[in-house]
Parts: sequence; structure tokens; C-alpha cells
Amino acid sequence: MSGSHLESLQKSYDAIRQEIRERALKANRKPEDILLVGVTKTVDVPVMQAAYDLGITHFAENRVQEYLRKADILNRDCCWHFIGRLQTNKVKYLDQRIKLIHSLDRMELAQALDNRGKAINYRFPVLVQVNVAGESTKAGISPEALKNFLITLSKMGNIHVKGLMTIAPYTEDPEDVRYVFRELRKLLVDIMRERVENINMDELSMGMSNDYAIAVEEGATIVRIGSSLFGERVY
Ligand SMILES: *Cc1c(COP(=O)(O)O)cnc(C)c1O
Repeated sequence: MSGSHLESLQKSYDAIRQEIRERALKANRKPEDILLVGVTKTVDVPVMQAAYDLGITHFAENRVQEYLRKADILNRDCCWHFIGRLQTNKVKYLDQRIKLIHSLDRMELAQALDNRGKAINYRFPVLVQVNVAGESTKAGISPEALKNFLITLSKMGNIHVKGLMTIAPYTEDPEDVRYVFRELRKLLVDIMRERVENINMDELSMGMSNDYAIAVEEGATIVRIGSSLFGERVY
């Protein structure tokens, strides 16, 4: 990794941390309660190693093959997250190195994860992805179906629900999606009150490069940042 590349990564990282800090304080929150996950799809391993050395120790991938390739060669003690649509036929490749799956969006996938967890003696930590804005192009459980979905999940011994995740619609002005984050937090609080057994509602994964500042103000505990850390992705 070149010196200038490293310098620009350091700059972006500092700026994002500063923004998270300011927004957290503005909302009367502790900045350290917000975890920055680096979204590293298409990012090369040497860049990830440099990022780790700067302090970005959580990485998120959205393709199982890419995750496995990188996890096998990245010689850093990082935490791996899985985001994005997860195909059921790929679940058999997941392992204990996955510290959080953000995109549990359907029963068939829950069943596959529960089976895989049994096979490798691991209880997969998961977030349920909620389609708050009701976009037909996006995955996620509808807010109306969430509670029943969670009750079914609570009976599965090898997945452990830790909270909720959403992807807001893309907008020029992230203020326009504040309601999405507010709504997800409301759902979390409602479910917390219900006290569903075996389910935790500690984590709210919301906010990406474009809108994380607003998400932090609305209660995000995890923000998923790709392009504003690592640059625009080229596929
Ligand atoms: C790609 C991706 C991100 C990161 O997006 P950026 O806009 O590059 O920060 C976050 N969450 C999910 C689910 C993604 O697929």
C-alpha cells in the first residue's frame, strides 16, 4: 500500500470518527457506544491490514467466497461481519470466525443457519434485517411481521438474535431517511418491552457512508462504512 493511499485512509478514518463523536454527543450518547465496521467488499487484503493497524478491527463482507479467501490470509485478529443477501446454499461455508450476521431476512435462512450452527457447535450471532421503508427492491422482514419472526427465531438453539439492522433508501439528503432510523429504533424498543426469551435487543446496525451521521443521532450502535473509508468501489 502506497504512502499516499495510507495517508488518505488515515484522513478518512479520522474524519469519520470525528463525525461519529460529534453526532453522538449532540444526541447525548457516548461515542464509544458506536462501533465502526469497515465494509471491505472488493477491498484488497493489504489495504485491510493497513486499516486494521490504524484501528479498524471489524470488517464486513457480502460474499461468502470473498470472506473465506480473505479470512484465510489476513493475518490480523479482526472481527468478521456478514452483510448483504446470504444465499442458503452458501451457509455451509460459514464458520465461528463470523462474529455477526447483519442480514437475517427470511425463515429459510434462519433454518439453514441454525442447522449449520448445530453442525459446527456454534450459536451464530445475528441481526434481523428489517425493510422499514417497504422498498420492493430490498430484502428484509416487514415491521408488521417482525415480532412473530423473532418468536420463531427465539426457539432456535444455534442462532442468537442480538438486534436489528436496516438499509435506508438512498437519498441526496440523508435527512430524508431519518424517519427510517427512528422507526427501527422504535421497533427495537417495542420488542425489548415484550421481553422475548433468548433474544437480545442490544444492537442497531444502521447507517452507511451517505447517512451514518443521521443514524448515529437516531441511536445506531453499529455503522457500516465502505466507500467513505476505502474509496468508491470498482467492480
Ligand atoms: C456496501 C454496503 C455498505 C457500505 O456502503 P457504503 O455506502 O460504501 O458505505 C453497508 N451496508 C451494506 C448492507 C452494504 O451492502
